[in-house]
This record gives sequence, structure tokens and C-alpha cells, in this order.
Amino acid sequence: MPTLKLLIPGPVTTHRRVRAAMNRDLAPWDPDFRPLYDGVRARLLALAGGDPARHIALTLPGCGHFAIEAAIRSLLPAGGKLLIPATGAYAERMARLAREAGRIPIALPVPDDAPTDPGAVRRALAADPSIGLVGLIYSETATGIIHDPVSIGAEIRALGRRMLLDAVSAFGALPLDLSAQPELAAAVFTPNKCLESLPGAAFVLARTEALAPGRAGSWAFDLADIAANPGPRFTPPVQVLAATAVALDRLEEEGGPPARLARYRANARTLYQGMQGLGLTPVLSPEAQGPIVVNIHAPADPAWDLQGFVDAVKARGFVISNFYNTETPSFRLGAIGALRPADMRRAVAAIGAALESMGLEHRKAA
Ligand SMILES: *Cc1c(COP(=O)(O)O)cnc(C)c1O
Repeated sequence: MPTLKLLIPGPVTTHRRVRAAMNRDLAPWDPDFRPLYDGVRARLLALAGGDPARHIALTLPGCGHFAIEAAIRSLLPAGGKLLIPATGAYAERMARLAREAGRIPIALPVPDDAPTDPGAVRRALAADPSIGLVGLIYSETATGIIHDPVSIGAEIRALGRRMLLDAVSAFGALPLDLSAQPELAAAVFTPNKCLESLPGAAFVLARTEALAPGRAGSWAFDLADIAANPGPRFTPPVQVLAATAVALDRLEEEGGPPARLARYRANARTLYQGMQGLGLTPVLSPEAQGPIVVNIHAPADPAWDLQGFVDAVKARGFVISNFYNTETPSFRLGAIGALRPADMRRAVAAIGAALESMGLEHRKAA
């Protein structure tokens, strides 16, 4: 199979050095592995402005959803209420995880073409003092809109409530400062998005005092139990953690999250303008467009067929998602991963050639 570039919002295209770090056998309990394990956790906490006296970095095997469920269970007792701004498909997923774990998600309707208004969160919390926690999607991967945890967090803090932040498609590029946001009870993310490492692990950065043993109602998902066992509990994805250590070296070499964010912004701009140049219509206005995911309206042409398009783009070297994640059909392009604007220009050319090959002439939104 030829090497393909993943133009999707995770798992992302990775650097060869990151993949090479997986090419060895490792025993989780071996004292030689502990510095790697503790080093990754300490570096993640430092990247997020965490204070080791107040915060703890926890590792779970699995994907992002597992860590979000663990955080919901560990922060909120059974029957507890969680306000979730309804930013899109990932907010719906958080609500489902909460509901099936016996917690009560309350959806806050928000526009699907603009960032969440902090005032709307304040009003919803003021109206119901029994809501203890707000679950916010930082970068809503379904729409590509960034929702600001700082201004929303200030409202949550003022009303004495707490925040659970889904930073899965944000961490490593978008800013996060745990020490400046005491209302942030936990932030959840995975290594295979903006950290540009491989899938198989998930991380939670939590305020230690926000965790209570036994509250989770599940041993496997109990963050307090993981916090109480600072070494690897059960079998951690050792190779993924080894790759993540190298990915963190690369993030440092690049100049940290601000430099990475600048590259993603340039990538997203290249995709956005490139798609317009092909006669296609981006879903968001340039002001609402975030740096992680660019959604493009499906063309009106009767010859449009998403899987056919995905296959034609793949034949030209790039993999894009073969499902719709928005209400009106749109295909999505990831601007993240070990890719730069020159790769994005090649992706635009590949997409242009794919449209030509399908004879798609009516490219405006359906
Ligand atoms: C990718 C993603 C997740 C987690 O997805 P998994 O497939 O479970 O790793 C959660 N939230 C957001 C916003 C995401 O982009």
C-alpha cells in the first residue's frame, strides 16, 4: 500500500520518528519504564500549566470516549446534573456517556455557526443551582468551531460550579492553563490528535481534590483509584506512551503549542481558500472557522457521492472521512497532524483532480 496522508481530525498523520518509538517490547512494571511513564505525565501537566501540588495527570488505556466517561463518573455522583452546551456531535456524545452512566445531562441550545456565548451558560447555571458541572467541548470536531473555555470558565467560577473540558481535538495546539482556571476540575484528551502521537491511550488532567474514591461506580473508570496508584494500573499502552514521549520532544522542538497552532492555522487557511478556489463552499464563515477542522458543503451536482469522492481522493494520496458529521451534508478535512501548508496545497490539488474525475461541475452547496 502506498503511504497515505491522513487528512482527518484524528488519528492524525504522524512523524516517522514517533512511529519508530513503538518498535520495541516494554514491560510496564519494569523500573526502566517508570521514568518514561512519569515523564510523559509530568510533561503533559506542565504543558497545561498544572501545579503538581493541586493537579494530577492520569493515563488510561483506550480512546477519548473512555476518558470522558471516566471523568464524568469520577467528578459527578450518580444522579448528578451536567450542563452541556449543544455544540454538535461531540457534545451529544458526552451527553450519551453521562446518561448511560446514570448522570443527568442537560443540553444548552447554542448556535451551530458561532462560539458558545458565556452569558448563556451563566443564565442556565443561575436558573438551576443543582447543576454542579458544565461539560464543554473546546474544539467541536463536528463543526470546526472553537468554544472558549476561559470566558465560559469565568462564568462557571463566578457561580461556584466546575468544568469538565473535552480538549481532545485541542490539547497540544490551543492554549490551556489549569492554574489560571481553578473551576477546571478535569481536562481530557488523547495523544493522537494535536499531540501528533498514536492512538490507544487517553489522558485526564484533574484537580486532585475534585476526585472522590468510589464515586465512579466503576473500578475500571475510577479516576480517584488511578490517582491513588501512581504507577501503571492494569496494562498501559506502553508503546503508545513511548511514541508520545517522542511526540512531546517534537512539540518542544517546534516551539510548543503556540507554534503548532500557527502551523494549523496556516494549514486550515490553505484548505479553506483552496476549496473556495475549486468552487466549493465552506460551511463556516472565515470568522467562525477554527484551525482544526474545515467542513465543506457537499456539492449540489447529482453526480456527488461521498464514498466515490473519498475513494478518488485516496487514489491521489490523501485519506478523508467517509461520513457526515453535520446536519446538512458536508465533508470534513483535518488541518492537524504532521502536515504543513505545502502538504495542504497538494491535498487541494488532489481534491481538485478528484472532482474533475467525477465530472462534478455544480460545486456550490446543495
Ligand atoms: C476525537 C474526539 C473525541 C474522542 O474520540 P475517540 O474516538 O474516543 O478517541 C472526543 N471529543 C472530541 C471533541 C474529539 O475530537
